[in-house]
Amino acid sequence: MFDIAKYYEAKTLEDALSYLKANPDVRVIAGGTDVLLRIREGKISNAHLMGISFIFALKTITEDEQGNLHIGPMMTFTAIEENEIILKHIPILAEAVGAIGGPQIRNVATIGGNVCNGATSADSASSLFCLNARLKIQTADSSRLVPISEFYVGPGKVILQPGELVTDIIIEKKDYDGYTGTYKKFAQRSAMDIATIGCAVILKHDGKTISDIRIGLGVAAPTPIRCTDAENIGRGMTISPENIDAMAKATITNMRARDSWRGSKTFREHLVYELTKRAVKKLVGLPEEE
Ligand SMILES: Cc1cc2nc3c(=O)[nH]c(=O)nc-3n(C[C@H](O)[C@H](O)[C@H](O)COP(=O)(O)OP(=O)(O)OC[C@H]3O[C@@H](n4cnc5c(N)ncnc54)[C@H](O)[C@@H]3O)c2cc1C
Repeated sequence: MFDIAKYYEAKTLEDALSYLKANPDVRVIAGGTDVLLRIREGKISNAHLMGISFIFALKTITEDEQGNLHIGPMMTFTAIEENEIILKHIPILAEAVGAIGGPQIRNVATIGGNVCNGATSADSASSLFCLNARLKIQTADSSRLVPISEFYVGPGKVILQPGELVTDIIIEKKDYDGYTGTYKKFAQRSAMDIATIGCAVILKHDGKTISDIRIGLGVAAPTPIRCTDAENIGRGMTISPENIDAMAKATITNMRARDSWRGSKTFREHLVYELTKRAVKKLVGLPEEE
């Protein structure tokens, strides 16, 4: 059974923010694919929920005059996969969210819910880390912009305070323009499975040299992370299989993986090395496997 004591459907963003202010105990429900499971499992009881599905302002993807991208948190994964702005500028995100669950989940689950539940396995998160995404967080009285790298504070924990709502995910033009990217997920089966490791890479290159590279990982630590040590090696690096191999090995220094039933720490480290190497080779046009 679902132990739901009270449900409120917000009609507008202002309505949602004032309801949150007046009801600090209320829990936001987006697609509900995490929240409803937690209620069903008894992890949340006597739930007071506020739905935000009817707020149009949270369900758009736009490009502003500066070329910065704004992704509404209520965008479902299917809508992101099919969105022209995403496919034109940051296809890595379409690739990443296309790896989530199955079609039924992707039709209802949202990118806002994926990020706000704080899971290190969130498939959208590593790409958003690579893209230096910033989250707009609003209350009825205030608004702040937080880099995604500061949003996660621990396993399943984010910095959101009672009364706060994520209302925009922003990617600046300078962070995607001229980059090419790809997301590689290793899971025990090819659909309906949480990542054992998720690896997102974006880079700029001219065929000879990698001028910039960003590597984001999921399940490599208690929160999604960037591999800054490997990025430092990769930036300015001459493209060769040997150099890519050396850079991919350096990803392990930023990892804090753990053993779990899905995979050991050692296996995860091997996966990160292998997936990073394959992603970079794919992006620079080398065969992925020797
Ligand atoms: C069968 C199945 C398979 C799955 N497979 C995957 C997978 O392969 N990869 C993956 O990453 N995930 C997977 N998931 C997890 C889940 O679908 C995602 O995390 C999803 O993106 C959550 O989005 P939602 O809209 O359903 O969030 P909800 O369940 O509605 O909310 C999740 C959390 O975010 C909060 N929240 C939502 N929106 C906001 C907002 N705008 N502001 C503030 N807080 C907010 C809610 O209060 C709640 O705490 C799977 C789930 C299921 C049931």
